[in-house]
Amino acid sequence: MPGHRGAGGGTPAGVTAARAPIDKGARVDVVVPGARLVILGKQGAGKGTQCVRLARHYVVPHISTGDMFRAAVKMVTEFGRRAEEYMNAGELIPDEVVIGVVRERLEQDDTVRRGFILDGFPRTVHQAVTLTAFLAPRGVDLAIDLEVGTEMVLRRLAGRRVCQTCGTNYSVAAKPKHGWTCDYCGGDVVQRDDDTEAAILRRLKLYEEQTAPLITWYLEQDRLVAVDGMGSPDEVTSRLTRAIDRRRHERGLHG
Ligand code: ADP
Ligand code: ZN
Repeated sequence: MPGHRGAGGGTPAGVTAARAPIDKGARVDVVVPGARLVILGKQGAGKGTQCVRLARHYVVPHISTGDMFRAAVKMVTEFGRRAEEYMNAGELIPDEVVIGVVRERLEQDDTVRRGFILDGFPRTVHQAVTLTAFLAPRGVDLAIDLEVGTEMVLRRLAGRRVCQTCGTNYSVAAKPKHGWTCDYCGGDVVQRDDDTEAAILRRLKLYEEQTAPLITWYLEQDRLVAVDGMGSPDEVTSRLTRAIDRRRHERGLHG
């Protein structure tokens, strides 16, 4: 395994955007409502698409570790080059690196005040345990399991195309309006470097081994809600908001 920086060394340049000055002594647990959501689900389940919508609905930042690492890769730093190796092989980036990056993002003002929707993190039990400790005593409000069968995700991933600039997802079945140019930002819409067959199979295997156990882990803490990810994006979004609102209501969390 290639070497990597520990969490204590700070975030590698380019991973997070410019941030507001923070009080180093501030703790995330002093904050109130908004929503603290985690989304779980296989590659291709539609997490990215749905998170953009949920972030708008609940007015919380969408924190995608995949997007953060893809941005780092574009910066062509030493860190980006190493991250790219892991990603293109479908391997997980080492826990300490990911945890350091996420922790720094969670300390920013918007997240502290409003909460977040985490997409792609946690992905291992160690990441989940660390996240819960960091957010103690409240922890996350809910972990959502977006359920889609393996056969369907394989089909979706093969057709997935993404805007290189803003990250909007398209597919061969739902192309941009004009050629392969992003409807929103004009960027090039391409296949992701890690959407090769080998990397997809590796990621799905790692999902089963390392991430699927988190479903039981959150269930045991009564923080899990499972939502069917089949159907149109709009159908899935309304299923998600209904399920989330019901659980938030039960738990007395209102944003
Ligand atoms: P997908 O869900 O299709 O695998 P993501 O965009 O979430 O795509 O992640 C892309 C890659 O970024 C992963 O394959 C992995 O290499 C890296 N990555 C993202 N999040 C994590 C994480 N929490 N832990 C380890 N590696 C991660
Ligand atoms: Zn775009």
